[in-house]
Amino acid sequence: MAAKTRLFRCLQDNFGVLVHDPATGATAAIDAPEAAPVEAALRDTGWKLTDILVTHHHGDHTGGIAELKARHRCRVVAPAGEAAKIPGVDETVREGDSVKVGNLSARVLETPGHTAGHITFVFDADRLAFAGDTIFSIGCGRVIEGTPEMMWNSLKKLRDLPGDTQIYCGHEYTMANIKFALTLEPGNKALKARAEEAQRQVAEGRPTIPTTLAEEKAANVFLRADVPEVAAAVGLAGKPAAEVFAEIRARKNKF
Ligand SMILES: [Zn+2]
Repeated sequence: MAAKTRLFRCLQDNFGVLVHDPATGATAAIDAPEAAPVEAALRDTGWKLTDILVTHHHGDHTGGIAELKARHRCRVVAPAGEAAKIPGVDETVREGDSVKVGNLSARVLETPGHTAGHITFVFDADRLAFAGDTIFSIGCGRVIEGTPEMMWNSLKKLRDLPGDTQIYCGHEYTMANIKFALTLEPGNKALKARAEEAQRQVAEGRPTIPTTLAEEKAANVFLRADVPEVAAAVGLAGKPAAEVFAEIRARKNKF
């Protein structure tokens, strides 16, 4: 049976999301920015929390773990490289490991850059990827603990997933990301279409995610550092993609 998801807002601009296996009743929270919205989503769905899958150690992704674990006795799965900074960890995972949520199965991709040990959970059979703060819709996370090259390689890893993969990320930053992306690719039709779609979603009070990888490949300038027109737009025609990516990220930081 296919996975079900439930997306909801947490804190200022974070997303929380539940992944549910209808066959077994198992339910995982992907990160836990704070406990109350997770509890509310569990109440609304009637699902029972069995697992928390953590993408990285930042407080706005882990702040609710201790309270949720105390109440639900759920298992906490975290990246091996960051387990010491995350409360209540039961299991650590690395690149290539798989994590079961009931009968659902997630593959672990190491996607460092935003943090040194950041991971992404990919439910291949359900075409779902939970990427934390590695990729955002039309954006990517700040490179805080890693290098731009590391982040570019992580984004390329995500870019290799099937185009119909639904991408869930940690924050609602889409409109600001679109504004920035349009400064570099004003003629990108997919980006303009995405801008119209996102405007509609925001006007209707809906979240702008999940997005699909195919959509991001066409419109997310951070995934397009190896497109010649994008390199030219930042004055780096012919330069290595990692260098182009670093320049795009630096411009976004100042935008
Ligand atoms: Zn973060």
